[in-house]
Amino acid sequence: MNTERKGVLIVVSGPSGVGKSTLIDRFLAEDGKSAFSVSYTTRKKRPHEEDGTDYYFTDEGTFKALIDQGHFLEWENVHGHFYGTPRSEIMAILKTGKDIILDIDVKGALSIKGQCPASRLIFIEPPSVTELKNRLLLRGEKEIDTRMKRVEEEIALRGQFGYTVLNDDLGKAYTAFRKAIEEIRRQMNGTNNC
Ligand code: ADP
Ligand code: 5GP
Repeated sequence: MNTERKGVLIVVSGPSGVGKSTLIDRFLAEDGKSAFSVSYTTRKKRPHEEDGTDYYFTDEGTFKALIDQGHFLEWENVHGHFYGTPRSEIMAILKTGKDIILDIDVKGALSIKGQCPASRLIFIEPPSVTELKNRLLLRGEKEIDTRMKRVEEEIALRGQFGYTVLNDDLGKAYTAFRKAIEEIRRQMNGTNNC
């Protein structure tokens, strides 16, 4: 085993409700070589979510103090809540050789790309805006209108992503998602993690 290998930063993005968590959770359950980057957020916890697993749930004052301390590799205000990617945790895991999977918004993804050219970006695309809305309803989402307002803007930026996966049929989308990650792993020589 090559213990010198550094992990790859794999950024998964796309509109809210498109199926990012669904694809990532399935992948992480099957793959032993990657870890999920747990973001900080000021939004309220959903009933099934766990603090420290899905997000670090925090208040706005704490979040802003963390920004000032340089704690985040990137942060954004998405749908009226703050979300941020912790820098040191990610760097520590990448050094161990594990790949890191980030689930972040489109602007945050492009910000990571700017700071870490060795990162690789996957855009998850919805079959239609109507279907996207249905999925948010299915999830019991309360902030549907706020989330739908950003969709066109997000889809317009998909050309800046190295990989696009259409999430229409979930089985097919998952196969394409896995293939994209396998291709990324083949291409990266593991010497540069950011
Ligand atoms: P995101 O993480 O992008 O916000 P989720 O993974 O939470 O989205 O998915 C939103 C909802 O859509 C969930 O209820 C999920 O089960 C459902 N979903 C995901 N992919 C599909 C699919 N291909 N077809 C139908 N429903 C899906
Ligand atoms: P949700 O509230 O549905 O969990 O997430 C809303 C949006 O915030 C999603 O697009 C998700 O990818 C994004 N998000 C989650 N964590 C981060 C983060 O650390 N940074 C950025 N920029 N976006 C994030």
